[in-house]
Amino acid sequence: MSAISERDLLESVPSTLFIGGEWRPASDGGTLTVLDPATGEPLKTIASATAEDAAAAMEAAATSFEEWAATPARERSDILRRAFDALEERAEEFALLMTLEMGKPLAESRGEVAYGNAFVRWFSEEAVRIQGRYGPSPEGNGRMIVSQHPVGPAYLITPWNFPLAMATRKIAPALAAGCTVIIKPAQQTPLTTLAWVRLLEEAGVPAGVVNVITTEASGEVSEAIMADDRLRKLSFTGSTPVGQMLMSQAAKGVLRTSMELGGNAPFVVFDDADLDKAVEGALAAKFRNIGQACTAANRFIVHSSIADEFAARVTERVTGMKIGRGTEPEVTIGPLIDDRAVAKASELVQDALGRGAELRTGGEAIEGAGTFFQPTVVANVQPGSEILREEIFGPVLAITRFDDEDEAVRLANDTEYGLVSYVYTEDLARGQRMIERLATGMMGLNMGVISNAAAPFGGWKQSGIGREGGAEGIHEYLQTKYTLTENPFA
Ligand code: NAP
Repeated sequence: MSAISERDLLESVPSTLFIGGEWRPASDGGTLTVLDPATGEPLKTIASATAEDAAAAMEAAATSFEEWAATPARERSDILRRAFDALEERAEEFALLMTLEMGKPLAESRGEVAYGNAFVRWFSEEAVRIQGRYGPSPEGNGRMIVSQHPVGPAYLITPWNFPLAMATRKIAPALAAGCTVIIKPAQQTPLTTLAWVRLLEEAGVPAGVVNVITTEASGEVSEAIMADDRLRKLSFTGSTPVGQMLMSQAAKGVLRTSMELGGNAPFVVFDDADLDKAVEGALAAKFRNIGQACTAANRFIVHSSIADEFAARVTERVTGMKIGRGTEPEVTIGPLIDDRAVAKASELVQDALGRGAELRTGGEAIEGAGTFFQPTVVANVQPGSEILREEIFGPVLAITRFDDEDEAVRLANDTEYGLVSYVYTEDLARGQRMIERLATGMMGLNMGVISNAAAPFGGWKQSGIGREGGAEGIHEYLQTKYTLTENPFA
């Protein structure tokens, strides 16, 4: 375990852009300051890229593409494996850095280091398994070859809520496939990406293959990159409205796109559920990352016969949660990312209460430094409440009731999102029916946390397009070629 101080750690993080293998300031000398959401105090000032810097990063990614694409897969794999080993060694530093800039409890940041780094290992393994096919045409007069090729330079945009994992699950498959990248982390949490890319550089990633643009001018910078017709791929994780806007920009260049967007996960508890398991799963699915996960359970849809008991049991557990800066021992609820997030949680709770819901615990922003909101339980949430429509992105557990399976399915699917659903039942056939009836790209069946580097992560409906992780993840960065040759025996 590393005993590095917060100050030394922050000083060790690069404070500039990384373009074409050089760490350099913004072209106009502009900067942005990253804050600690637990205190509101500045952590570090770093470069804020201009459109000119973005164009330079695009140039670097485009000019280094051919050589990187031709680099043997084993070499690309070895670089990723070295990066994996290096991060394992420095796991504690990265965990602390994430807690400082994003706010989550240190134990959860350690979990994210393990999860985020699992993508690096997974794709170091997948790099050498890019395969094609060869065979006779049905008529027998030719031979058909199907091969996979890197799609080209890729632009990657990540959100603030998982500062490491959102970067690794894009960069690792891109590099494994032979693509070069420009990554733009969220301006609220860019430090983890900068530190991790430095580590990739040390692991031997050639100049220009990975470029980092941190900026306060996301729109302008992105437009400069997307206007370049050498860009071939956009991978975005963030909110649905920004994703929709980027998809329309990507249409001009007919870019391959991967979109990991918002969620509004139902958490359905049937009357035949094991309530102990359901309560544990609910707490994990709701309060991990202080509720700020796209996979966070948003609507607890609980059978009427057990809804009161479920509410009482989760309330008892929530009342005991320790709130504070994520670096303090035993804290489970850190700050929300900013004032807007606190205001949103507060408005959603007030709207639900105004429409007849009952407040069981919490419900208020916490006065003082930092952007904290009390862990909250609201029961008997009524149809039409905003909290059932909107992604809460905060520590608010909202319970609504149902009476039969068809009603549960109707309520669960009543959203434009379709990222993940959670179902608790001990009836195997019912569980299987739910797999077929719930319109989500992922499901936790008696499980409250499902993310895994070996699984295809992604949503249906307005939660996105494409998959990250699993055997599918590398294909987001590959394109298919079919070649017909003559029958060599003719
Ligand atoms: P966001 O506001 O959409 O921001 C995400 C990223 O997009 C940030 O890097 C942001 O940069 C950038 N961005 C914003 N406006 C842009 C523009 N005009 N052009 C180009 N880039 C732009 O989302 P967020 O609030 O950070 O993240 C929360 C959302 O992400 C939630 O909806 C959550 O569900 C979703 N999410 C989804 C997944 C998934 O896998 N499905 C995973 C995690 C999070 P700035 O920082 O400069 O604004």
